[in-house]
Amino acid sequence: MTELAGKRVFVTGSGAGIGKAIATLFTQNGARVVVSDLDPATSKAAADEIGAAGVADCDVTDEAQVQSAIGRAVEILGGLDVLVNNAGIEISSPLLQQSTESFDKIWAVNVRGPFVAMKAAIPHLMESKGNIVNIASIAGVGGSPLLGSYCATKAAVIQMTRVTAVEMRPAGVRVNAVCPGFADTAMVERLVPDFEAATQVPFTDLVAMKQGRLGTPQDIAEVASFLASDRASWVTGSHYVLDGGLTAS
Ligand code: NAD
Repeated sequence: MTELAGKRVFVTGSGAGIGKAIATLFTQNGARVVVSDLDPATSKAAADEIGAAGVADCDVTDEAQVQSAIGRAVEILGGLDVLVNNAGIEISSPLLQQSTESFDKIWAVNVRGPFVAMKAAIPHLMESKGNIVNIASIAGVGGSPLLGSYCATKAAVIQMTRVTAVEMRPAGVRVNAVCPGFADTAMVERLVPDFEAATQVPFTDLVAMKQGRLGTPQDIAEVASFLASDRASWVTGSHYVLDGGLTAS
């Protein structure tokens, strides 16, 4: 497939998990991708494996690092057509038992991160009439015990997506979000013990009951690729739920 032929793409948190799958599929679909992660070992390994155009690491909580990484990506790629805000963390805790420090931390990564990346990327995207894909979650459309602050951050990502889409429509920049259900990554592996302890149901049974099977990172990447492509030229301000039907029932 070449639906992203010639697109110049920067993906945050793309050394592993869903971000790596997005960088991989986008490259297979013809894009030139700059990989970026907090952990330089994973981004370098992922970029080598994928045949990415380059690496520009940043911690998305650090605005100066984000600006510099996006500047480096623009240098490598000769411009920017697509920003994918994928980097995110989870914190598993009953909401009101969570420390204020860890509450601030998840907001810094999951909300401030995409905010500063969108600010840094927007002049380049205005030039290319490009687009942004934000990785939100079904946790942003429904509440989940143990994931209270995570749910709040992902709802904020959906709202920033909507507002930015409307504000950037005159400039010709599209902004969309995807909302995955449980997908097979290290993040979900970390959540399994707490979910099993809280529900007394094996996680595999819970997943089978609620969404049929675990999502794969590629399931998410496929929809992100469509949204990033010109095939989605009339799609903006939307959030796409990808969850095997979990939130439909
Ligand atoms: P993951 O933990 O497997 O991978 C996340 C990647 O982001 C890692 O490579 C990590 O090093 C990087 N990262 C973490 N903090 C960072 C920071 N401050 N700056 C830059 N990079 C950072 O997670 P995943 O499951 O692949 O999740 C990717 C995105 O998808 C996240 O936004 C997550 O909230 C969202 N999501 C995941 C699921 C799921 O089931 N896995 C479901 C819904 C949404």
